Amino acid sequence: MFFFFTCGTHTFSNHLKGAENLTVQCQNCGNFSGHVYKRWEWFTFCFVPIIPFSLKPYKEVGCHICNFYQDIKYRPDVQAQMGQSGGGMMMGPPGGGQPQHPQYK
Ligand SMILES: [Zn+2]
Repeated sequence: MFFFFTCGTHTFSNHLKGAENLTVQCQNCGNFSGHVYKRWEWFTFCFVPIIPFSLKPYKEVGCHICNFYQDIKYRPDVQAQMGQSGGGMMMGPPGGGQPQHPQYK
């Protein structure tokens, strides 16, 4: 009997909480198609995630058009927008609840 074990990595990818509605410019293709993702790499054994490679998930700006991912630390503009929306949420926006995104056009 031959047992075949598969080791590998699995990356969990999710929209970052509080930034789901944020649309930012992709610095690779220039489209306003970037979204903020949280990516977390795990070591897998037989496709079961066992050990996380990092304690904290990566925060990245991902573009679905050109498939370009960029660490959010290189995007101070995105961090500023997240800070604004996040802070507003905490304090409770007066009425509406419509997130205001700056227009770059
Ligand atoms: Zn792009």
